[in-house]
Amino acid sequence: MTIEKLQEVLTGEASFRLKQAIKLVFVDLISDWEDASVFPLVLREKLKQDLSLDIKADLFLSKEQKSGKAIIHLVDGLKVETTLMNHKDGRNTVCISSQIGCPLACKFCATGKMGFTRNLDYSEILIQIIFWARFLKNKNEKISNVVFMGMGEPLLNYDNVFKAIKFINDPDLFNISSRKIAISTIGLINEIKKMVNERIKVDLAISLHAPNDFLRRKIMPYSENYQLEKLLDTSDFYIKKTNRRVMLEYLLIKGVNDSQKEALELSRLLLGRKLYFVNLIKYNETGSFKPSDQKTINNFKNILLRNGINVIERYRFNQDVFGACGQLALKTT
Ligand code: SAH
Repeated sequence: MTIEKLQEVLTGEASFRLKQAIKLVFVDLISDWEDASVFPLVLREKLKQDLSLDIKADLFLSKEQKSGKAIIHLVDGLKVETTLMNHKDGRNTVCISSQIGCPLACKFCATGKMGFTRNLDYSEILIQIIFWARFLKNKNEKISNVVFMGMGEPLLNYDNVFKAIKFINDPDLFNISSRKIAISTIGLINEIKKMVNERIKVDLAISLHAPNDFLRRKIMPYSENYQLEKLLDTSDFYIKKTNRRVMLEYLLIKGVNDSQKEALELSRLLLGRKLYFVNLIKYNETGSFKPSDQKTINNFKNILLRNGINVIERYRFNQDVFGACGQLALKTT
């Protein structure tokens, strides 16, 4: 289901029909052309035949039924995962995937172990949003935030990601403010520079996970193309041009990157860089590594705080359905 396909099916119809159809799909969130009562019966029948609004998906809700993950079946038979997180304050954050599998091969990540299959098309990115928007509509709720933190590296699928963002942000469509859209990346320098020139300026999150290049390359082999100092200079530039704070994601893995030495090194790296905040993430087990214990996490956090670094700990959702960070590998049990 794409705008192009809608256009194609509606060729020959009055031009306002396309506008109506787009509103029906993206705003009214209909899942059956039967419900397109503004259209004459013949047109409804035609659309029904030529353009299915069905989204085939397996839904796994977390215990409290307000968060969960969905495995969406794409037209070519491949599958992609997306998650919904309902926060205590009522916000609904949707975490979406940009690729099937991931070419980065980070040692700690379940998606990384799957290898890379292909990029998602922008409409396959939007289908994930439509899926959750329909789910929430049934409860009279809405999506409040969208984060590109699912499977894949969004900046390696730059054009589709930014095309999808246009729809997500469009006041006549999903109408989600650019301040409520975030991209998480290993830190592709050229693409971050390119983001500065986008009309829609989204929040940037960088998966740091280590305070020096040596350790970072060990656990995130793809990062060997991006020297940390250069990466931070580029995100300094992003901050300067966009006036946004940048989130640095730091996964705490037992005995790998969680010592006092690393906390001090991270503090030094961020010295004077006021517009960053560190998001400490407890490691979700995916096989090889273990999460740091709470005492180590607290020590790490306190060292950063003592050095004047802004730091928060990430709340974990959806672990019971294998839908937490780094666990997205199309697994359900
Ligand atoms: N490729 C992008 C987008 C993936 S986002 C990126 O690297 O940022 C997924 C986030 O979850 C990243 O910060 C990733 O490093 C983190 N993550 C990966 N495996 C994890 C795990 N097992 N537990 C917790 N977080 C993990």
